[in-house]
Amino acid sequence: MPPEKIEKLKSEMTLETIEADCAKYVAQAIGQGATDAKVINASEVVVDERVTLKCEIPKCFGYGTCANCPPHTMKPDRTQRIVNQFRKAVVFKIDVPGAVIVRDKETIKERAGAYQTLANIVDAIESAAFYDGHYLAVGFAAGSCKSTFCYKAECSVLSGEKCRRSLKARPSMEAVGIDCYKIALKQGWDIFPIGSDADGASVEHGSLMGLLLVD
Ligand code: SF4
Repeated sequence: MPPEKIEKLKSEMTLETIEADCAKYVAQAIGQGATDAKVINASEVVVDERVTLKCEIPKCFGYGTCANCPPHTMKPDRTQRIVNQFRKAVVFKIDVPGAVIVRDKETIKERAGAYQTLANIVDAIESAAFYDGHYLAVGFAAGSCKSTFCYKAECSVLSGEKCRRSLKARPSMEAVGIDCYKIALKQGWDIFPIGSDADGASVEHGSLMGLLLVD
C-alpha cells in the first residue's frame, strides 16, 4: 500500500539504511503471518541450476502450465547475475501442517490459502521496499501461481492476455533456481524432504518460503 506521502529518492542507499529497512520488512512479514523471517546477505541466496531440473525431470504437475513456472521463467544463470547485484535479502517462511503441504484434495483450500498468504506477504514487503526508495527490490514467492490463484483456469498470459493477478503473481524461488532448502538450513530452520507421494501424517510440518532482494 502506498504511504500517505511519498518521499523523494536518496542519491545513495547506505548499507545501514538497507539493513534497517530490511529489519522492518522482517517485522512486517511476521505481522502478516510468517512463522519466521531473517535478514541475510544477498550472497547467501544460493542459486543452483539443479533446482529447476527438479521441475523438469520428472515433470512437475505445474511445468509449462503458467508464465511463472519453468520453462517460461528466467534461467538460474540470470538469477545468479541478478542476485549478485543486490546487497541484502529478507527470507521468510510459513510453516503449515504436513496434511496441508501434501498434494491431497481434502486440504486444497488450506494449501491455496497458505500460498496466497505467502504471495501477499511478498507483494506487501516488495511494495514497502519500493516506497522506501529500494526501487529495484524484487520478490519471489513459492509454488505455482496457477495453483495459488487460477486453479483450473488456463494461464491467460500464455494465451497472450494479461495476468489475472498482475502485480501479484510472481515466480517461486525454486522456479528461478534458488535453493530454498539450503537457505532454510543455514537459518537453522527445520526443513523436511516432502515428496509428492508423502503422507502428511509422516512429517512434523511443511514450510513455504518467500524472498525479497533489496538494494
Ligand atoms: S496468476 Fe494465473 S494468469 Fe497470472 S501468470 Fe499465474 S497462472 Fe497465469
